[in-house]
Amino acid sequence: MTKLLNGNQLAKEIRKEISKEIEKKILSKNKRIPHLGIILTGTNNSSITYVNSKIKECKNIGIQSTLVKLPIDSTEEKLLEEIKKMNTNPLIDGFIVQLPLEKHIDQDQIILSINPKKDVDGFHPENFGKMALDMKTFFPATALGILTLLERSKIKISGKHTVVIGRSRIVGKPISILMSRKSYPGNSTVTLTHSNTLNIEYYTKQADIIIVAVGITGFLKGNMIKNGAIIIDVGINKNGKNILGDVDFRSVYGKASYLTPVPGGVGPMTRVMLLKNTLMAALTNRKHPTL
Ligand code: NAP
Repeated sequence: MTKLLNGNQLAKEIRKEISKEIEKKILSKNKRIPHLGIILTGTNNSSITYVNSKIKECKNIGIQSTLVKLPIDSTEEKLLEEIKKMNTNPLIDGFIVQLPLEKHIDQDQIILSINPKKDVDGFHPENFGKMALDMKTFFPATALGILTLLERSKIKISGKHTVVIGRSRIVGKPISILMSRKSYPGNSTVTLTHSNTLNIEYYTKQADIIIVAVGITGFLKGNMIKNGAIIIDVGINKNGKNILGDVDFRSVYGKASYLTPVPGGVGPMTRVMLLKNTLMAALTNRKHPTL
C-alpha cells in the first residue's frame, strides 16, 4: 500500500500556524504586517504564474507584497538598482528575484547583490554556507518544504539512506545538505546523483528515500526502487494543461510506501515555506520595536 503525502493539506495547516504567529508576535504588538518584495524580469510564462501564486499566497495569509516588474530587455544595472532599493527599504522585510533571469544577466552577480538578511529564497552564498554549517538561516523553500513534509508526516529519516537525483542549487544540493545535517530532522546518509552518475539504478535500488528533481517526466520508474521506498517527486513538467512529475506514478504507486503526488505534493509546501521565511525575516530584521 502506498500512502500519498498530501502537501496541500499540510501547507494549509502551516498557513494557519503562520497566520497565528503573525497575529501573536506582530499584529497584537501593533507592528506592521510582514512585507515581501518580488522582482520579476521578462515575460517567461512559468515565472509569471509562480509570481502570481506567491502574491496570492501572501494576500490570503495577511502578508503584504510588492511586485516590481522589469521589461525583458532591462539591463543588469537596472536590476541591480532595484535590488539596492529593496536592500535598503526598511519597509521590505525580505525579497526575492524570480529566477530564471534573461541570458544577458549574470545570475551569480544578482544573487550576490541581495542583502543576505533579506534573502528569503536562501540562495545567497552567506545563507547557503550557514545552512551547510548547521546554522540558523533562511533555507531554500523547496528543500525546507520537503524536510517539513517528511517531519510532519512522522517519517524517520535518521539512519536511512537517501538518494537525491539532481544537484541544482535550488533543490538537489540544498536538500542533500539538509537531509545529511547533524540535526533533527537530518542524520540521513545521502548519495547525490546527477546526469554523470553511471548506472543510477544501482543507487536508487538501495535507497530508503529517493528525492527526484531532474525535470524529466516519469524519470523514476517502479523497477528502479526497492519495495517500501519513500519517494519525493519534485518535478513540475508541463504537458499541455497537465502537470506531471519526475516519477512514473503508475509503476511506483503500489511499490513505494509513501509518495508525493504531482500536483499537490512538494509544490504547495514550497510556496508556504516562502511565507515562513518572510515571517522569519520580519521577526529578525526589524531594528526598532515598533517597526
Ligand atoms: P535543473 O536545474 O534543471 O537540474 C536538473 C538536475 O537533474 C541537474 O543536476 C542534472 O544533472 C540532473 N539530471 C538531468 N538529467 C539527468 C539524468 N538523466 N540522470 C540523473 N540526473 C539528471 O532542475 P531543478 O531546478 O532542480 O528542477 C528539477 C525539477 O523540479 C523541474 O521539473 C522543476 O520544474 C521542478 N521544481 C519543482 C519545485 C517544486 O516546488 N515542486 C521547485 C523547483 C523545481 P547535471 O547537474 O549533471 O546537469
